[in-house]
Amino acid sequence: MRKNIVAGNWKMNNDLDASIELVHELILATDDIEIGNTRIIVAPTFVNLQKVREIVEGSRVEVAAQNMHQENSGAFTGEISAEMLQNIGINDVIIGHSERRAYFNETDELLAQKVSRALENNMNVIFCFGEQLEDRKSENHFKVVESQLKNGLFHLSEKKLGFVILAYEPVWAIGTGETASPEQAQEMHAFIRNLLKDKYGNEVAKNTSILYGGSVKSSNAKEIFSKPDVDGGLIGGAALKVNDFVAIIKAFS
Ligand code: PEP
Repeated sequence: MRKNIVAGNWKMNNDLDASIELVHELILATDDIEIGNTRIIVAPTFVNLQKVREIVEGSRVEVAAQNMHQENSGAFTGEISAEMLQNIGINDVIIGHSERRAYFNETDELLAQKVSRALENNMNVIFCFGEQLEDRKSENHFKVVESQLKNGLFHLSEKKLGFVILAYEPVWAIGTGETASPEQAQEMHAFIRNLLKDKYGNEVAKNTSILYGGSVKSSNAKEIFSKPDVDGGLIGGAALKVNDFVAIIKAFS
């Protein structure tokens, strides 16, 4: 049975003090809420990962990294590897966020390498993908999403895919305040699940969590998450304020 997941991507926000405060508040606020088997994940910046991971110990909050390098070690100044993340107890990593694709030129091919490397190091992957506004306007959004998945993910075996969470994030909805309608999200998620079914079979398709990301707020989370193929959200801006993030998590109560 696939899990519901609400993951907060803090991006390059929150210094150490702010990270500590936010995660403490989040732990307190989610301690006794009834949200079934919903996973709660936060992704702080690299330098604060270890501290936040120590703080969440014993709580229901989990910690993920926002990125990693495709190699395990070597002369790659400024980079962080899966081995290093594992070494400080980080088992989940976001790969392929649209900001990494756009500002750091991360291609499908590079992302495929990162995904493989993460899995080889026994990490779980939150794999992000989604079309640009012009793709949607020209009605190419299904084609774009299909090719991102085929190039970035579908080299994986069925077993390895079991460690991947998908996050469909239409780029036009990220940080813009413009959300895909629940119907648009459901339409794309059903399409994605069908691609999984064609490639890996019905069991895998049924068991893979597919998150929606793009201006999810407390006011729209319930409706979006109520769609049958939407298994939660990857949250940016609204994950930085504990009340907003908790209200989104409570969409599963
Ligand atoms: C994101 O960056 O993944 C995201 C979904 O951001 P926001 O919620 O701010 O649109």
